[in-house]
Amino acid sequence: MAQLSDDCFAFGGSLLGIDAARAMIVERVTPVADVERVPLRQALGRILAQDIAAPIAVPGYDNSAVDGYAVRFDDLHFDQPTTLRCIDRIAAGHDPAVALKPGLAARIFTGAMLPEGADVVIMQEDCERDGERVLIHPGIKRGANTRRAGEDVALGSVALAAGRRLGPAEAGLLAALGFVEVPVRRRLTVALLSTGDEVREPGETLRRGQIHDANRYMLAGLLERLGVEVADRGIVRDEPTVLGEALQRAAAESDLIITSGGVSTGEEDHVRAAIANHGSLYFWRLAIKPGRPVAMGQIGRTPLAGLPGNPVAALLTFALIARPMIECLCGAAPHVARRFRVVSDFPYKKRSGRREYVRASLFDTGGGLARARRYRKEGAGMLTSLTETDGLVELLEETTRLEPGAEVDFVPYSELI
Ligand code: AMP
Ligand code: MG
Repeated sequence: MAQLSDDCFAFGGSLLGIDAARAMIVERVTPVADVERVPLRQALGRILAQDIAAPIAVPGYDNSAVDGYAVRFDDLHFDQPTTLRCIDRIAAGHDPAVALKPGLAARIFTGAMLPEGADVVIMQEDCERDGERVLIHPGIKRGANTRRAGEDVALGSVALAAGRRLGPAEAGLLAALGFVEVPVRRRLTVALLSTGDEVREPGETLRRGQIHDANRYMLAGLLERLGVEVADRGIVRDEPTVLGEALQRAAAESDLIITSGGVSTGEEDHVRAAIANHGSLYFWRLAIKPGRPVAMGQIGRTPLAGLPGNPVAALLTFALIARPMIECLCGAAPHVARRFRVVSDFPYKKRSGRREYVRASLFDTGGGLARARRYRKEGAGMLTSLTETDGLVELLEETTRLEPGAEVDFVPYSELI
């Protein structure tokens, strides 16, 4: 099972900055060692375990980028039309057995191998064909409309580096290089559980004071997108012994534990104490809003991310804490969400010293910078504030107020989760 580095200290003091939390994750969470070879078709979403050097060049041979005529550049007049005799016909997939002699042209099609001696291809639209002859207008450059062997991937070069998540484009590149299998890290198993006496499964009839478990369904979706195996541990009561046992069982059977709820300072918040009792706590409060109560630690030697119960806070802290933990565990460099400049449509006041994320929709996306409109309802429990917006305006620690019309950073959900 996955392990955290051993020197554990509890971060007791003030709020931890998000950058410091991330640095701690990168430093302490080490990748699972096991590597397996999987067929290319099953490699989507997996993390490459080794650098992939190109066993062949791509393209493998000089070829034509267009349908037209392959000629020798030195045969062309540069200030008047040139007429050449067209002798050969080379289709894609066929070997141009003979070299192109001076004064001749070869009919050629996209992807077909250039005959020896040819170093430029004239697009058929730029030629006039008359029986055996083809008339070529001046002005073409040497090498035009050709693709050189190895111009995409040079033989022996690193086509994909270890740690890369394999998506469809990577699968295409690996296939072009001829791979049938790829070395990837073992798939992680992530134990997922919700805490809370009020939390019930969807489908259950709610009694007074009860709610349906939204977080486990949201978090399971986020986890599946990251390509991990979700070990669903259900809902755990707000009872220290039960929680402690559930966490220990989860630790024995997974590479990472993710919980939601029970990490604040209320008397019914038992996750933090359970981490301290059965392992070690690294931090439990971050200088962010929403999402301030979020714990990182380990149970036994299995890392744990204790996310807050409010769904918006759970989603944000998943992105900021749980996701980089998962990436470090599977040997990938933590994703850096790209920010885009937008114009704020709203005023905002905040405390300095913490980073705040404001749910917002973009509009006026036609030309220039888009404008960000804040969602009309606040509150870290508002699920519709996630379903009805496009992403988060990020306000840095030093910012205290925002005026309408000011430029701000915007992180779309597609970059975050
Ligand atoms: P807690 O962090 O346990 O204090 O919970 C904070 C808020 O989030 C409370 O209003 C909880 O009822 C709510 N909450 C906790 N867990 C869930 C869950 N799994 N799904 C939806 N809301 C939750
Ligand atoms: Mg709770």
